[in-house]
Amino acid sequence: MLPSKNVDLDPEEQAALREWRELVVEHYTEDIEHLEGMEESVHGFHIEHRLIDEKPTLRRIFHERPTRALELGFRIMREQFDAHKIPTRPVLRVVGLSDNYLNSVDELRMRDRNQLVALDVKINDVSQPYGWLKQAVYECLDCGATVSVKQRRARQRESPRTCRSCLQKAFEGIKTDNIPIGLFNPLPHFTLRQEDCVYEDAVDLSMSQITYNQDYNLINCSTHNQIIGTVSDDLIDQLVVKSYARVNAIVRVEPIPDRTFAKDTRRLLALDILSVEELPIRS
Ligand SMILES: [Zn+2]
Repeated sequence: MLPSKNVDLDPEEQAALREWRELVVEHYTEDIEHLEGMEESVHGFHIEHRLIDEKPTLRRIFHERPTRALELGFRIMREQFDAHKIPTRPVLRVVGLSDNYLNSVDELRMRDRNQLVALDVKINDVSQPYGWLKQAVYECLDCGATVSVKQRRARQRESPRTCRSCLQKAFEGIKTDNIPIGLFNPLPHFTLRQEDCVYEDAVDLSMSQITYNQDYNLINCSTHNQIIGTVSDDLIDQLVVKSYARVNAIVRVEPIPDRTFAKDTRRLLALDILSVEELPIRS
């Protein structure tokens, strides 16, 4: 493992981190204890949304920046798993989103990008699992320093622009009049360290909007209000084709998959699915 970079948190994020810790310790310590001795490499951990709603700062960040809120939650869950000597990687699965997040496929627009939504759907189809490079690790060929670069799914791989440690050395050289500027290569000079890269397993699924009555009798399954989404890790094996579910997700904007030229500006809405809750629909 590479040492994790010390990222400074602003005061609001520090407050959210404290609230995450309170939430997890107060409500989930027993569940975590039950996982001791588990051998799976990844475990989806259900977190009730109403508990997040009770924490003022966390509630706001989770609403405004759900991805960031989940990154902070992961740190706390990792810390708690470590405290119980559980090597498994936790994934936070927030369930039971309040009804104001309930949306429908036809209402989603570009402005909903990065927002949280809950959708009631039928799962039509699930792709073969594939892996994607989530975090690339590069090594500077001049000084040996390593740097991690987060990647985006289905986009071009991104590499670092400059080596900070080489740049630092060049600047220090300027101050001392001992200018090793010739040693500083302004062009990136990196190699990908395959063995340190972080990959994630994922599947894509296609879904159709459904409507149903209070007794969970299906009223309609739309043939044209369809959307695609992605699930990862532990959820991959839990999807059932032709089943009904409420998916809780973050809206993403994706390039058109079969675009014929690289700079095609057309975009599709898609879902990054956080959790899937089965619906007892009768059709
Ligand atoms: Zn370097």
